[in-house]
Amino acid sequence: MSQKQTLSFQAEVAQLLHLVTHSLYSNKEIFLRELISNASDACDKLRFEALHHPELYEDAPNLEVRVSFDKDARTLTIADNGIGLSQQEAIDNLGTIAKSGTREFMSRLSGDQKADAQLIGQFGVGFYSGFIVADRITVESRRAGLKPEEGVRWVSGGAGDFEVETITRPQRGTSVTLHLREDASDYLSTWKIKSIISKYSDHIQLPILMRKEEWKEGEDGKPGEHVLSDEWETVNQATALWTRAKKDITPEQYQEFYKSISHDYEEPLAWTHNRVEGSTEYTQLLFIPSHAPFDLWNRDKAAGVKLYVKRVFIMDDAEALLPAYLRFVKGVVDSADLPLNVSRELLQESRDVKAIREGNTRRVLAMIEDLAKAEQDAESADKEKFAKFWAEFGAVLKEGLGEDFGNRERIAKLLRFASTQSDTASVSLAAYKARMKEGQEAIYYITGDTQAAAAHSPQLEIFRKKGIEVLYMTDRVDEWALSFLTEFEGTPLQSVAKGQVDLGKLQDEGEKKAAEKAAESFKPVLAKLKEALKDKAQDVRVTTRLVDSPACLVVTEGGMSLQLARLMKQAGQKAPDVKPVLEVNASHPLVQKLDGSPAFNDLAHILFDQALLAEGGMPEDPAEYVKRVNALLA
Ligand code: ADP
Repeated sequence: MSQKQTLSFQAEVAQLLHLVTHSLYSNKEIFLRELISNASDACDKLRFEALHHPELYEDAPNLEVRVSFDKDARTLTIADNGIGLSQQEAIDNLGTIAKSGTREFMSRLSGDQKADAQLIGQFGVGFYSGFIVADRITVESRRAGLKPEEGVRWVSGGAGDFEVETITRPQRGTSVTLHLREDASDYLSTWKIKSIISKYSDHIQLPILMRKEEWKEGEDGKPGEHVLSDEWETVNQATALWTRAKKDITPEQYQEFYKSISHDYEEPLAWTHNRVEGSTEYTQLLFIPSHAPFDLWNRDKAAGVKLYVKRVFIMDDAEALLPAYLRFVKGVVDSADLPLNVSRELLQESRDVKAIREGNTRRVLAMIEDLAKAEQDAESADKEKFAKFWAEFGAVLKEGLGEDFGNRERIAKLLRFASTQSDTASVSLAAYKARMKEGQEAIYYITGDTQAAAAHSPQLEIFRKKGIEVLYMTDRVDEWALSFLTEFEGTPLQSVAKGQVDLGKLQDEGEKKAAEKAAESFKPVLAKLKEALKDKAQDVRVTTRLVDSPACLVVTEGGMSLQLARLMKQAGQKAPDVKPVLEVNASHPLVQKLDGSPAFNDLAHILFDQALLAEGGMPEDPAEYVKRVNALLA
């Protein structure tokens, strides 16, 4: 390709570009962070490839980024001597969005600029952010290892297309030149650029160089001015933040570091920074974001922890460093022990990595425990944080009950639920236990699709009547996760929709006697009911758990709930056919009507189908159900 070629952006890029330039308007300066971060990544990549191919360094082994501007031409250039781009890479990487999930991301945009800007921030706009301040971008590059004649120039105005052509470029690496818009003249200033770099990019390990400014006296009575000299100076600290001592790092620096590695706009909820010594040596700097990313529910999504070995960047998203249930955590791990050429496969097996993973897990749980503690402290500035954490990440944390047996108890203490006594998900198991009724022997819970559905379950009636608190489990993961938690500090967890209710000591003798009597006299009807419903119900029995409702469905102890079976079927998974038990309230007028009724069969089926409806299910044959009810009404 020596001829100039004009190519179109992938449709999503064009759309993203439009959004970037319109939504990020209020936070323009981040473009510099993004471009410097790309330059730094390119240098990391070169360093990594050069571990096996030292010749890639050519004659320039010192990796660096140079930022310069030209006031007359109104251009700002960010140049690196990193890995560079081949022509094909320029076309592919700067013309399409390779990241998965782009479509989903696009579909989440609302048109509300503020909300969208936040989403875009999470997604990371990278290179395209240059178009916030530029109406044209020229990229010139040559990949390390290619001949000087194999360079590439890429030019675009950020609308529908871009041009590429072959150029000769002796020096390796990439320079990105922004042709600044009228309203972006601010960035033609050494002072301004330096201040943005120190805000966002101090921790970049590479030196970032700018031309030194000198004061030149005016001649012939003209005023003096600052002029750029030929000398370059380093304008960033150029030390990796995590290698510095904690006491020398301000909260603002931690926050900016977080933003630069996560592309997030918001500040993190918490962070932890430690140098771990012992048989495995490493530094960890881990953050809990203040909101969930849009793809949190994708369990295959890579974790947000970057792995460094002795300050050399090895890989992004090193999922081996944290269990999947902590996939919302972002940060950096720098190991002193791992080999530089460690691969993802090797990571899975390494004993050092296992130790790091355990250490990270402990630290993250400790961070969350601290937030929970702060919630109890009226004086704490962090009082609100735990509730926020729980709303964003609570459901993911629950996966840990099934995934991390070693920490199950720690996780159990962090759980929060809504309940019959609390509309918000704020009841801990410990708080529940503390207010259990005299004689109560279990922690009761009910699962449901939504909190409203759970709250209206007939199974709750007797608990309500007796003032016994029942926890609502309405997250999709609840039933699965809770199946790993059979007890909390010696008290069993018991679903109110599974097995028989045995309120034990909570029921008084009179109630027990009355129930037994009702059951006895109901026996003949029960036998007929069983017969009529033998295809639908595993069993029919009399219950004391109902107060106002005629009947309800329960499953056997240890069985899968109807709701989970439904969820699994909806998700296209195989679920066992759960045949529930119908429990009837022998003192309910409708149930008493059964005895001797000519419509016994219809009534029996209506009783069953209504119980199914009440807990969120669907009668097997809705039309038949309607027919039966209508016949009765008529
Ligand atoms: P991201 O960096 O998040 O992948 P970007 O849109 O910022 O997304 O960049 C897209 C791709 O373009 C990068 O993944 C990289 O392959 C390439 N790229 C961008 N800037 C540079 C650079 N300075 N040197 C080499 N490659 C670059």
